[in-house]
Formats: sequence, C-alpha cells, structure tokens
Amino acid sequence: MIDSEMAGVLRDSYNRAIRDLRVSLTDRCNFRCFYCLPHGEPPVAPKEQMLSYEEIEYACDIFVELGIEKIRLTGGEPMMRRDIEQIIFKLAQMKDRGLQDLALTTNGYFLPHRAESLKAAGLDRITISLDSLKRDVFKQMTGVDVLARVLEGICAAKDAGLEPIKINAVVVRGHNEDEVADFAAFAREHNVKMRFIEFMPLDSGHDWSRADVVSGREIRERVEERFPLEAVDEFRGANTAARFRFADGAPGEIGIIAPVTEAFCGACSRIRLTADGQIRTCLFSTVEYSLRDVIRDGASRQEIIDFIEGVVMKKEPRHYINDPGFVAPSRSMSFIGG
Ligand code: SAM
Repeated sequence: MIDSEMAGVLRDSYNRAIRDLRVSLTDRCNFRCFYCLPHGEPPVAPKEQMLSYEEIEYACDIFVELGIEKIRLTGGEPMMRRDIEQIIFKLAQMKDRGLQDLALTTNGYFLPHRAESLKAAGLDRITISLDSLKRDVFKQMTGVDVLARVLEGICAAKDAGLEPIKINAVVVRGHNEDEVADFAAFAREHNVKMRFIEFMPLDSGHDWSRADVVSGREIRERVEERFPLEAVDEFRGANTAARFRFADGAPGEIGIIAPVTEAFCGACSRIRLTADGQIRTCLFSTVEYSLRDVIRDGASRQEIIDFIEGVVMKKEPRHYINDPGFVAPSRSMSFIGG
C-alpha cells in the first residue's frame, strides 16, 4: 500500500485498518432479551458517568479525523436516550470530513413515531432487531409483547427511506431456529437484508452454552431448504456478515454472522465506545480504556489522539471463545454496545 493510503488511518499492531466505530448511547434498555439481559437491568450507572452528547460529538470528531468512516449508534436501546436526533444531526455534519456512513441499531419500539425524524436528522441506515415472527416466541425471547409494534416500526423505517434496512435475528437453539426460512421469506417479501447472528457468550446471566448456538452453516442450510442462495461477495473484507442473494433473483438479502463457529477477527475493522466512555477494542475484551477520563482530565486534542492510537495498538489479535480458558467479559452486550 502506498503512503498516502496509509495516512490518517488508525491501524492496530496487526496492521488492521480501523474504520468502523460503534458508539453506545446508553446502557438502558426497555427489552429483556434472554440472551442479553435475562435477569433484568443491572443497576444503571449514574448519569454523570455517561458521556454527554457534547463529549460524544467531540470524541467522534477526533475518530473521524483518524480515519473512521462508519459510525453505528447502538446501546442498550439507543432510542431511550432523549433527543437522539440531536446527536445524529451533529454526527451527520461529519460527512464533510470523511464520515461515509451513519447507522443505528434499535429494537424498533420507538420507530413508528420517530423514523421520519431520524431520517430528517441525517441518519443513513437502520438495523432493527427482530428475533421471531411469532407473537408468543417474540415475547418469550425479548420479555415484551410488542411484535406488532416492531413490525410497524420496520414499515415506518421503510417509508422514511432509511434503507437498506437490515433485520438482526439472534438464532438460539430451541427458540427460533425453526423460523430461519420464514425470516428468509420475510426478507424476500419486504426487500430487507436479513442478518442471522450466532448466539455469543455476552449474556449478563453467563448462561451461554455452546449447545444453544445454531451454527452459521446450519442457518444457511435451513434457508436453502426453501430458497437456494448465491454468495454476493467473492472477498468478504471487513464485513461481519457472509452475504447471499436469492438464486431466483428475488429481492432481499441474507447475511450470516458466525463469530463463534467461523471467526472473522483477521479482518476486523471495529472498535467500540461504551456509553460511559470506555474504548473496547473487541466485543470480548476483558479490559477497557477510559476515553472519558482522558477527555475530562483536560487532555489536549493531540493527547487524546495519542491515547486513542495507543489503545488501538492493543487490539486483540482474535477472540478466544473457542479456547479452553475463555472468560466471558463481565459486561453484557447491552453495556458493551452490539
Ligand atoms: N437495543 C438495540 C437492539 O435491540 O438492536 C441495540 C443494542 S443490541 C445489544 C444490538 C444487537 O446485539 C441486537 O441485534 C441483539 O440481538 C444483539 N445481541 C445481544 N446479545 C447478544 C448475544 N448474546 N449474542 C448475539 N447477539 C446478541
């Protein structure tokens, strides 16, 4: 690679370019998904520990200067943060300075009335979590009886033009693996990108078991029993999902995210900023680095840049889910920011 392509890009010690930042806006959530927050919400951190919108904007401005091209807002449930449109508007201004993609992951609950204002504020794309198309299974998996409202939210997002819409489904043995082909039919009918995710050991109850993981391979087989697929990308690059189109040319797309059985760490381009301002270099990190404290201690912009570059150099080579001594992170996905 020539020098000019290297300039302004965060790189870790394995020469992976870091282009993708996930920002958790809050660790609060109005759902109780059993694979994430099975025992309810742990004590919520005091507000003063959370990054303010001004601090998030300042941090993201620096990250964009350092070559971050994609920002995904997440949580917790990011739409529980009041006036989320304000921070979206501020971040959208960074498109002039190199940001290419501003996305949001949500459970969809607030979308029926808010999708248009998200779009108006400058959001490009949205990912909506939807674990079942059956009311009783949805309630059992998420702890809330709101399937109809989430489906309404998906329609609202479409109407608002927040496309391409991605739908995330965590596939867990004994719960929803029998719906995989139905989800594929849903993707075809509504022209959305389905993303099937393997169940990861990121639940607050630490009850994850390998036996509950439905592998990416099995997910693909279950789709192909009804709808033959063709691979979209010859090279997957830094994408988390292996992507497939329908062989018969139907609209919609299937993506399979298989971090447990087919780890893709070698091409990882992601880092995370938690709602309380900690940088995490891997979903499964057991250490965090407080950008919040550095900012609040009055560090100069250059000192903050030096700090971020130093943290990125410590990014783990890979996760260790499949190693005998694996220790799950103490914080659940709702704290880390999925
Ligand atoms: N509240 C938002 C939502 O529901 O999409 C955003 C945060 S949520 C933590 C982000 C994504 O992480 C969701 O799609 C969720 O299903 C996924 N997730 C949470 N816990 C997981 C686990 N243990 N394994 C795999 N995916 C998980």
